[in-house]
Amino acid sequence: MTALRAFFRCDSGCPGELPLSLLDTRCPRCHGLLDVLHDESALAERSGAAWRELFDARRLSPKWPLPSGVWSKREWVNPELLDEDIISLGEGFTPLVPMPSLGEELGVRDLWIKQCGHNPTGSFKDLGMTGLVSQVQRLRRLGAKLPAVACASTGDTSAALAAYCARAGLRSLVFLPAGKLSDEQLTQPLSNYALTVAIDTDFDGCMTLVAEFCSRHGIYLANSMNPLRIEGQKTLSVEISQQLGWQTPDWVVVPGGNLGHVTAIARGFALLAKLGLTDREPRLLVAQAEQASPLHQAFLHDWRFEKSVAGPTQATAIAIGNPVNVHKAIRELQRVSGAVEAVTEDEITAAWTAGDRHGLQTDPHTGVALAALAKQVAHGRIRPHEQVVIVSTAHGLKFGALKRALHLAAATAGEASAESGSARLRNPPLKLAAHRATLAALEDAVLPILCL
Ligand SMILES: *Cc1c(COP(=O)(O)O)cnc(C)c1O
Ligand SMILES: [Zn+2]
Repeated sequence: MTALRAFFRCDSGCPGELPLSLLDTRCPRCHGLLDVLHDESALAERSGAAWRELFDARRLSPKWPLPSGVWSKREWVNPELLDEDIISLGEGFTPLVPMPSLGEELGVRDLWIKQCGHNPTGSFKDLGMTGLVSQVQRLRRLGAKLPAVACASTGDTSAALAAYCARAGLRSLVFLPAGKLSDEQLTQPLSNYALTVAIDTDFDGCMTLVAEFCSRHGIYLANSMNPLRIEGQKTLSVEISQQLGWQTPDWVVVPGGNLGHVTAIARGFALLAKLGLTDREPRLLVAQAEQASPLHQAFLHDWRFEKSVAGPTQATAIAIGNPVNVHKAIRELQRVSGAVEAVTEDEITAAWTAGDRHGLQTDPHTGVALAALAKQVAHGRIRPHEQVVIVSTAHGLKFGALKRALHLAAATAGEASAESGSARLRNPPLKLAAHRATLAALEDAVLPILCL
């Protein structure tokens, strides 16, 4: 077999290949984005059936790092890494769960949720970060001087960076927009001992600062512009197909901010089809909050993109007006006849509470995806008999304050009588004071609600 190989190439068309050992992951000529390319003819020397067999066999193997969903697909992620380079926390192989009753409520008969929130730090960002930090570990082993790894983040990237750097014994540095992420998301990098800087600006502002800071001080930049993350995230598509018995769903719905994730998912499905593991690619629906919907605007205007300024949304991880990977994402969406939907804050709340009613612990971004699915079914683009996979990007437990704000809020007089919007969604605890801690008081409080 020909040795497998991967390399960087400029995404804007500058000629030539660049080694994966590059420290600055932007094009040295035009400063644009790079892509990771694989020698696909070398990968194709193994048949689709043989790849399927290999991946299925590895799924049962206890040999580290094969229990990782990412590193069980290592040839497709980064064929240069040795075992000692790999920094894994056991990411991937998250459950793909059928949700028939929730699907019925949203208008589709065959709905599945891919639970990326079950990853080590509670979001899909772990899939990309294990790929990136492993490459940094390799560079250090080969003698590169890298004092730290940094990112700007709306929360989940910094949590992942902090955890994987801690696992590798590396210094991490995270820049956060002050007050724009949940307490849990702030706690994560603090508890993994990342150097954490809260800046009074938005995500786009943090991003500009961190890029300048890193290039001045030789710090490795782990942001969405780093294409190594896309390689790890690609394995999500392999898992989804594998979990469906090497079938492809009709639609995959994913909330999009910087649009690295949708790019990765599209490329994963493309490679699966190209290498013959599956016989077709799914269509992709990107879900955005109306407050931050530049891709939706582009979709409505023949894919002509203009950056915007993100407004406030409960889906904080996708409050991005100028997505780094927008042109990569648009190319992929055009190829698979993809679509984009935008949803209001009320629609988002209704959707994540619907998920929670059916047993999920839904984060607001997954709410965006569920709401977008319902809208696209209503518009007739997604049809009731089609199989749909919702990519749940994070765990709802990261967003306790949002859920408490809904369920514990004091009802206003008007709401309580009108059974309006959020009053209908609220589920506050019943309280029995000390003097009412009796069976009679308990029955008085509970039986009418149970209609007994
Ligand atoms: C990062 C993130 C997204 C958006 O992913 P992009 O690759 O930036 O489009 C969506 N949901 C959650 C929970 C995230 O952390
Ligand atoms: Zn270039």
